[in-house]
Amino acid sequence: MFYYDPVCGRKVNRNKAYARVEYESETYYLCCPKCQAEFEKEPEKHIKKGKHKKHRHH
Ligand SMILES: [Zn+2]
Repeated sequence: MFYYDPVCGRKVNRNKAYARVEYESETYYLCCPKCQAEFEKEPEKHIKKGKHKKHRHH
């Protein structure tokens, strides 16, 4: 199964992902230490960029 790295947008194989980060009860897979660091720094930014979810905060 594939997931999308929220930072670089690359497809990541769940079993081969460099890191798994849980944020707000969702799990994200990162391809490399760089992406992991980026994601942990500003998770919101990357989640919003990479996903097209229809929920907005008012
Ligand atoms: Zn990446």
